Amino acid sequence: MEGAKGAASEGVDQSKDGGANGNEKFLNPTPMLDELEKGPWPSFISGFKELAERTEKPMLRGVMDQLEYSYTTKMGYWKGGLVTVDGYGAGVITRYSMIKDKIPEAAEFHTMRIQPAPGLHYNSTMMRELCDIWEKYGSGIIALHGQTGDIMLQGIEEKNVQQCFDELNKAGWDLGGAGAGMRTAVSCIGPGRCENACYDNLKVHLKVLKHFVGALHRPEWNYKIKLKFSGCPNDCTNAIMRSDLAVVGTWKDSIQVEEHEVKAWVEERGLDALVNQVINLCPTRAISLNNGEMFIESRDCVRCMHCLNAMPKALSPGKERGISLLMGGKNTLKVGVNMGSLIVPFMKMESDEDIDAFIELVEEIIDWWDDNGLDHERIGETIERVGLKLFLEGIGHEADINMVTRPRDNPYFKAKY
Ligand code: SF4
Ligand code: SF4
Repeated sequence: MEGAKGAASEGVDQSKDGGANGNEKFLNPTPMLDELEKGPWPSFISGFKELAERTEKPMLRGVMDQLEYSYTTKMGYWKGGLVTVDGYGAGVITRYSMIKDKIPEAAEFHTMRIQPAPGLHYNSTMMRELCDIWEKYGSGIIALHGQTGDIMLQGIEEKNVQQCFDELNKAGWDLGGAGAGMRTAVSCIGPGRCENACYDNLKVHLKVLKHFVGALHRPEWNYKIKLKFSGCPNDCTNAIMRSDLAVVGTWKDSIQVEEHEVKAWVEERGLDALVNQVINLCPTRAISLNNGEMFIESRDCVRCMHCLNAMPKALSPGKERGISLLMGGKNTLKVGVNMGSLIVPFMKMESDEDIDAFIELVEEIIDWWDDNGLDHERIGETIERVGLKLFLEGIGHEADINMVTRPRDNPYFKAKY
């Protein structure tokens, strides 16, 4: 530690090509970062070192030196700015170093946000092409995926951004959102591979994305707005806590029960398991045993998904499927963490007309927010400030007994992992 403090206060010697952290040729000593390699879990520092040593990109050595210096002084040294590509107003997150005199190799370390495919599934040819282009122009570091869902290509200098984008675009990729506009959306794998999917969230994601692509590339609203598409209430995209508009698949009728699968489940695990692992854990006591047969009272079911997850072969979502729209989810920012409120309890999402009606609703919501929101105010914050009544009047929606302000209370039930 003493050595690190000494190095930090005197500046980092970037002229030499030696180091004492395992690679004698390329990296400088980073004793504080090395601490992060200890322990049984994967270390981003090990990954960083491996990449730096393999590619010998000075930018990577500089970023490690700057991070080591930051840990020593307990200060961050990145500042923003504006870097973009022709025709776009968003998509590149700028990182200029405030200590470029001390560590010139890390003077610029911008991030290019690349839009993911719906369902976050790609073919290997596209991924290989993406990696090759990125190693040619940038640092080679990729975060898959960032919280907004983007593929984060981290570490490029401004002079290379346009050429890198042109090649990526030619290979079929597009920049994601940033700034005060539509942000990159994300969807779970849905009907591509999951039996719980209650609508074709991949198709809806794609249609919505194409509709709002202009607003995504050229931000023009009060602030950002994010959509996420989860196929069912398991909400694998964390839509309820991480998006302004959470589109979550659901069903209106009763859970479908395969009696013979219920019997097989009980034969394998015993009746006690059914009682203790399924029935007693239903949050609304919607499940009961009648003469040894499982019965679900549909009107009491709040679609928590517990019983369906516990008995996936025996239970599945009902047949009358669609989506719920929750609004206002976001991380801390100004007024603390919010989870989405259930504003549209049920909407069909089967035909192209259903999807068009949904897009129309989203447009109305955004128009209202654009007119009534303050600068830098997320839509949930605007609704909280003016009240739900004015919001519903604004978008021409009737209040409904099935609307729920807080369908979930604790935003950390997933985030803690
Ligand atoms: Fe499957 Fe539901 Fe998760 Fe989507 S959210 S992957 S449909 S369990
Ligand atoms: Fe109960 Fe949840 Fe199953 Fe509904 S989905 S019956 S609330 S455990």
